[in-house]
Amino acid sequence: MMSPIEVRLELMFQPKRPTGSFLVNRLLTVIISSALVLGGAGIAATAATPSPTPTPENTHQVELPASPNPTPTANGDPSGAIGGTPSPSVTPATPPGETTAPVVCGVCFNPTSYSLVKANSLWVVANKQRPLNPITYKPEIGYFKGVQVAKVTAVALNQMAAGMLKAKAGTLLLNSGYRSYATQVSVHDRQVARLGLKAGEALAARPGYSEHQTGLAADVSAAGQGCTIQVCFATTKAGKWLAANSWQYGFILRYPNGQTATTGYQFEPWHFRYVGVNLATEMKSQNITVLEKFWKLPAAPSYNY
Ligand SMILES: [Zn+2]
Repeated sequence: MMSPIEVRLELMFQPKRPTGSFLVNRLLTVIISSALVLGGAGIAATAATPSPTPTPENTHQVELPASPNPTPTANGDPSGAIGGTPSPSVTPATPPGETTAPVVCGVCFNPTSYSLVKANSLWVVANKQRPLNPITYKPEIGYFKGVQVAKVTAVALNQMAAGMLKAKAGTLLLNSGYRSYATQVSVHDRQVARLGLKAGEALAARPGYSEHQTGLAADVSAAGQGCTIQVCFATTKAGKWLAANSWQYGFILRYPNGQTATTGYQFEPWHFRYVGVNLATEMKSQNITVLEKFWKLPAAPSYNY
């Protein structure tokens, strides 16, 4: 039913800001469509738009003033929405216009930037249903205060530590970063031998399933603030600052409170996952805290037995 010009306008609108201005885009499309119809009937479209000729230049002028921070979607609140409908604006499978549309904003989110499957990907999603691929993967190692993490994580941790210090929220420490497949085998085997498979695996991740093996996970604490690797870390000055600000450095709090049925892990206010600033910002702006929900992946409450 759409005329070629309408289709073209839709493609121009859609990919640029998938989140906040969806309604605005629809409205503009309707307005422009109306204007075309009215124009075709020989009636001046005085009321609809200030400029009756919807050239691409005009549409850009209309589009550009949109807020740089997309408004969270109505159903983006993950807290109460167990099994709720995922946001329609999260589109890992992007319309074909995505790659061809001219990019004019500096904060565009491209959901196809990285693999969710490959172990060496910044966006890999590892959980109790998604082992690493390859399972013995080892990242390029860097160091934060002498502790091993992936190189990219080390850089980001340094920046976050500087920001935390500047905000007078404390001195960031890294308690555990990269853990190798071999290390996990021995930890896992010891616990399973002691407690049995299920109870053992509640304490020690199955080798190849731990986010720590990617080098992108960081168990952090703050000097002198206590609650190291404890739930009460969430109540410390550092814990609060990190929960509120880590996204600016590309980190997410990977196992938030109340998300165990999805993540398979209890609340871990000390465990941060580096995903890069683009994804962390997009999740923040959509108010989605959990990777599985953001990417519409199945919940991973437990391993397969
Ligand atoms: Zn951890």
